[in-house]
Amino acid sequence: MLNFDIKNLPTPCYITDENLLIKNLEILRSVQDRTGCKILLAQKAFSMYSVYPLIGKYLSGTAASGLFEARLGKEEMPCGETHVYSPAYNEKEFPEIIKYADHVVFNTISQYEKFYPKIQKSGKNIEIGIRINPGYSEIETDIYNPCFKNSRLGTTNLPEKLPAGISGLHFHTMCEQGADTLERTLAVVEEKFGKYLYDLKWLNFGGGHHITKENYDVNKLVKLVLHMKEKYNLQIYIEPGEAVALNAGFLVSEVLDTMKNGMEIAILDTSAACHMPDVLEMPYRPMIIGSGQPNEKEFTYRLGGPTCLAGDIIGDYSFDKPLKSGDRLVFCDMAIYSMVKNNTFNGMPLPAIILHKTNGENVIVKSFGYEDFKSRL
Ligand SMILES: *Cc1c(COP(=O)(O)O)cnc(C)c1O
Repeated sequence: MLNFDIKNLPTPCYITDENLLIKNLEILRSVQDRTGCKILLAQKAFSMYSVYPLIGKYLSGTAASGLFEARLGKEEMPCGETHVYSPAYNEKEFPEIIKYADHVVFNTISQYEKFYPKIQKSGKNIEIGIRINPGYSEIETDIYNPCFKNSRLGTTNLPEKLPAGISGLHFHTMCEQGADTLERTLAVVEEKFGKYLYDLKWLNFGGGHHITKENYDVNKLVKLVLHMKEKYNLQIYIEPGEAVALNAGFLVSEVLDTMKNGMEIAILDTSAACHMPDVLEMPYRPMIIGSGQPNEKEFTYRLGGPTCLAGDIIGDYSFDKPLKSGDRLVFCDMAIYSMVKNNTFNGMPLPAIILHKTNGENVIVKSFGYEDFKSRL
């Protein structure tokens, strides 16, 4: 599973494996090739821009949630399209967003009314869309569900006739889901918004498509894209974040100490709260190479971070051998929603960012120190 030696890496570090990334990109490109759809990297999940030139060879551009991501996408993947959606744009930032964006998606008609004149005045040819909220999703965790009650994400009712300049619609209602969910979602989108689609140029399916996961039904996705494309004569966009770098990165950490309080405990040099916040937020239990469920293997430990937060616990894991100071543990699937979400709470250092290249070399893309902690405060 690991194509590189972890012994000589600085810890903690995030390491992204170019070969694993390319494996995902090839799957995504095949969907583009088979359907004519355009796939964008949702930078919210993965903004490791040192690999944007590589990603740009496979995908059609980037999706941004605001000015900074839009700028990063345009600057680091200039060959691709830059799409921006924000629940509400900031008037001060909008002129700069116009500079970078090829597509601007508004959350409401009132946002469109406020900013459309500015786009017109700029003279720039920008595709304009509205995010719709079809009111249908299959996500059970509310904080990840754009369709939960009273959601602010997307418009539930459009005017009978769409105002001038709107050339597409956007929906984002999925999270780590398969093509079956997309099929049921599209049925609702068609039922509620189908009448608008005949007169539009494009439709964006949003993110949350687990396209690069084992057993994802790529053929069904292709079928669904072709159906929407052909029935309404639309350019289809998909903007996955997670699927681009799924299982392509790791977080390597070191055991600092072990102790006992009712059970064996190991304290690592990496923190759930600072370096993998989704472990606490989602919450979920990340996989560690060579570990088992509690009591599955002989030696069970509770793994925690070196911060003072009592709940900075990664989870309970078992191992074949007792853990000791200096041992290294490798957390899986840590390219996504990790680097983009980390923080220096409690004065924690940020993990270095490393790229394992296809030629076998490990490149330290970035390492962090005291200034990165101090400069934000
Ligand atoms: C979060 C988000 C994405 C990416 O979602 P993934 O689950 O990472 O694929 C795409 N589009 C929008 C609007 C988002 O908010």
